[in-house]
Amino acid sequence: MGLIGIDLGGTQLRVAAADDRGRLRTVVREPTEAARGRQHVIDRIVAAVAETLRQERSSPPRIRALGIGLPGPVDPAAGLVISPANLPGFRNVPLNRILTNATGIPSFLHHDAHLAALGEHRRGAGRGASELIYVTVSTGIGAGLLLRGELYAGAHGIAGEVGHIVVQPGGPLCRCGNHGCVEAVASGTGIAHAARDAAPRTPGSALHRIENPTPEDVVRAARAGDVLANTILETAGTYLGIALGTLVNLFNPQVIVLGGSVLKAGRPLLQPMRRSMNASSWRASRRGLRIVRPALAGDAGLIGAVEFARLRARHAREA
Ligand SMILES: [Zn+2]
Repeated sequence: MGLIGIDLGGTQLRVAAADDRGRLRTVVREPTEAARGRQHVIDRIVAAVAETLRQERSSPPRIRALGIGLPGPVDPAAGLVISPANLPGFRNVPLNRILTNATGIPSFLHHDAHLAALGEHRRGAGRGASELIYVTVSTGIGAGLLLRGELYAGAHGIAGEVGHIVVQPGGPLCRCGNHGCVEAVASGTGIAHAARDAAPRTPGSALHRIENPTPEDVVRAARAGDVLANTILETAGTYLGIALGTLVNLFNPQVIVLGGSVLKAGRPLLQPMRRSMNASSWRASRRGLRIVRPALAGDAGLIGAVEFARLRARHAREA
């Protein structure tokens, strides 16, 4: 017997076969081809599952459960994809039912960031933690919560939207429609926005000479001592720290797994982040807190999807 885990992103689709203990065996990678619409993507998922089983010399009756992570918002309890930004055509799609029918394997979806949190908790940097917060800061900000060692999804699967904690009321517009969310000011998108805003007014900065500076341009300039670039990273780090401090106050976590490309900015961002996290959380809530790097890197979501399938298979056996 075995399990299937799927990580469905806007650009890449990965399908893993794992044994009953969650150890990965075969992994099949395919482009998602999201632009070609919902049915095409679903057909690709089903074909990739069949290919994975073929390589494993397995078959649907020998797979206990299929777990699939995809961008939110999703409603795991209802098995519904609600409206992920980078999967056009997926609006209110009953994906659990569709995949269960098409593959013959009991299928269960969840938010990809939550599954990455589950992966880090079961097999990565957060093993053994009772209260764990996973935050990844790249183009956007994704997060997942484990409370008492279990995924916490909220009433409708939308818990853990850390990126939409408002840290700068009236600040830049966020893709959620509010202003000043931490994602709008501290993600890669937020950093690029700050650079594009300030660079034209700052002739002394290296960023002034770059058309549409990227977060990587900002990090490079900061390393070379550019004052504006360092200020932008300091601001982003400070806002990120406020959001983390809020989480610390709320959940008194043992571990925060903190990753994503923006963290590669290093000290100019991390130092102000730490400072403002401490300034916006109660000392007692931070006692014993460890902030660690992810251990599974890009595989956290896929491993989490397998672990989710394993959880569901266990529930099914106990029910
Ligand atoms: Zn927002």
